[in-house]
Amino acid sequence: MAEIVRIDDNTWRFEDGFVRFFLLVGGNKAALIDSGVNCPDALDLAKALTDKPIMLINTHGDGDHTSGTSSFSQIHIHPLDYTKCEVNTRYPGTELAEIHDGDVIELGNRPLKIIHIPGHTSGSVAILDSNNRVLIAGDSVQKGHIYMFGQKREPDKFEASLDKLISINGDYDTIYASHDEFKLPKDYVCKVKEDWLKVMSGSAPYEIVDLFGNKVRSYTLDNCGFYMEDL
Ligand SMILES: [Zn+2]
Repeated sequence: MAEIVRIDDNTWRFEDGFVRFFLLVGGNKAALIDSGVNCPDALDLAKALTDKPIMLINTHGDGDHTSGTSSFSQIHIHPLDYTKCEVNTRYPGTELAEIHDGDVIELGNRPLKIIHIPGHTSGSVAILDSNNRVLIAGDSVQKGHIYMFGQKREPDKFEASLDKLISINGDYDTIYASHDEFKLPKDYVCKVKEDWLKVMSGSAPYEIVDLFGNKVRSYTLDNCGFYMEDL
């Protein structure tokens, strides 16, 4: 079972092994942001923390962020990830509620702004919790290794997505990451970009590792890492 840690009166993080997800409660509604890797009872755990109706919003559709999906009638996710990450076939009883760049989901005096940041997956989004000046960035900004190999990734779009997050960094002070360290300062987006540019320039060293039967390049850099296709 996930370990639940209170962040403030209206915000919790769920530590589910190597991944985490979040509960954000507003005046009228609550949102679970992702639902973990091994937490099919995520909705029940969230219900114990709030009596507000709870919606599910996903930063992206990778399997380590969706384990509680089937308890929800709808998943708010970018349509590209709904299909490319096979959320549609893994959770056929949960219908798609599309979210797109610029959408604002109002929880009641707690607006959540959706920012489309393709790269890690085609439909990755960051969620700006404006009133708290927090950015929930999914897997796109973190200290750990960012997966960038396979069909559903779009590494050619990642730099522009990081620039997009940098361009709005007057709106947040803190980043909540899904893997590795929980809380990062806002300038961590620039640090991830620094490392990413080294990978893109071909100057960064890497080793070949086996990941789920794939031979991939593993880059371990100053601020984060990347798993890339071995071309
Ligand atoms: Zn992940």
